[in-house]
Amino acid sequence: MNTLPDIAWIGLGKMGLPMAHRLADAGYPLTVHNRSMDKCAALTAKGATAAASPGEAAAAGQIVISMVADDAALEAVALGGSGVFANAAEGTVFIDMSTVSPAISERLAGAAKEAGMGYLRAPVNGSVVQAAAGGLVILASGPEAAFETAKPLFEIMGGKIFYIGADEQARYLKLSINIMIGITASMMAEALAFGEAGGLDWAQMVDIIACSAAGAPVINYKTETLKNRDFRPAFTARQMAKDFDLALASAADANVPLPVTALVRQQWNAMIGTGRGEADFFGYVELLEDLAGIKRPK
Ligand code: NAP
Repeated sequence: MNTLPDIAWIGLGKMGLPMAHRLADAGYPLTVHNRSMDKCAALTAKGATAAASPGEAAAAGQIVISMVADDAALEAVALGGSGVFANAAEGTVFIDMSTVSPAISERLAGAAKEAGMGYLRAPVNGSVVQAAAGGLVILASGPEAAFETAKPLFEIMGGKIFYIGADEQARYLKLSINIMIGITASMMAEALAFGEAGGLDWAQMVDIIACSAAGAPVINYKTETLKNRDFRPAFTARQMAKDFDLALASAADANVPLPVTALVRQQWNAMIGTGRGEADFFGYVELLEDLAGIKRPK
């Protein structure tokens, strides 16, 4: 007899799809929904049921998980007549793993209270490779009972799991880390373009920076991306712009000055404006090379 709870999964993008696959592979009964329904096919082929709306999916799950693009997407799947809260049964636990603003998250917390549901914020660090390997870092905040319910699922998707508070703490920490990651890409691009101007070998320079004191883990994850100059997106410049905007807006509400974040935000504008918005955010180095008139390494 299958004692695993029914899971409703909403959002099968670059991250949601590999994360949902891990739950399917672990034997969890899944009902899946994605705005573009064709993306459900790989999971229905594994036995998952496809639902026509987020609400239809949520009605079938004891635990509902969403992994969608941004505030607007989360609002669309969670709130409103065909959304999660209007259709899930009382007592259902709703876990949102997207990167969204503390403000929309607070609205969801209010809706959860009204609906008698548990609501957990659980944004993740790590990208598509870690999602596929179950190596995400999961930052969770919300009611502790909801966290206990979610923990077995988190253990399938994540390597490190942190419970950090009862409210929006996870939203703030996720954005704090992401602005650091975005700024790191900016620093790396400037260092590399400068090194190229000095005649350094591209691959050797990437390797040496990665093992230097400045070689943060994110630079190490991106070593091959940089060496191969393969800027197909794990996380796009446009997505990074979204996270910077979320952090800057929340910081403005709290009167916290973020001058470096505000400056680096301009780079994502420049990437988007020059047609690089859907490239990986580490592709910023190519824009910088263009600005400096540097001939690209082969
Ligand atoms: P993605 O590939 O762009 O997928 C976005 C998902 O959201 C898709 O399922 C998309 O549906 C859905 N969506 C977008 N707008 C919607 C709307 N208005 N209504 C309903 N659904 C909508 O993004 P991702 O890379 O998987 O990222 C998902 C979340 O994880 C984001 O918040 C991102 O910031 C965060 N994150 C990403 C990474 C990463 O490395 N990629 C790492 C950590 C966290 P369609 O398929 O129909 O477009």
